[in-house]
Amino acid sequence: MTASAGADPASSGSQLPGLAWPVGLCVDGAPVLLGSRCTACSIAMFPPQAVCPACMCEALAEEAMPRRGQLYASSTVHVGPAKWHKPFTIGYVDLPNGVRVFSHLVGDPAIGAEVELDRAVVGREADGSAIESFVFRAVEG
Ligand SMILES: [Zn+2]
Repeated sequence: MTASAGADPASSGSQLPGLAWPVGLCVDGAPVLLGSRCTACSIAMFPPQAVCPACMCEALAEEAMPRRGQLYASSTVHVGPAKWHKPFTIGYVDLPNGVRVFSHLVGDPAIGAEVELDRAVVGREADGSAIESFVFRAVEG
């Protein structure tokens, strides 16, 4: 099912409930982003796509993304949607499989720091219910 040696989400993962993105899996208790890999040109992508943006092939396989990457860029946002906690920090994380993920960040990891996927509450709906999303945070220690 997967084109690389990553975890097989179909056999070892379970869909995470209540997250604001439809591709979260939980493998061995840790969140995992589910993306795609093109079976023709082998590029990986997140979020998953129906058509490869590089070669236009429609034969894509689901693939679990690596959980750790390196922070490429970040910015702190002070004005945003009313339901999001402010200020919040967002950034691009480069994964070792060539995918660059746009994400909320927790804490203030330095550019170039190793960061790891996690989940966190990033806001509140008008009714007070939590908005949970995937985030990246600096790797401890
Ligand atoms: Zn392709």
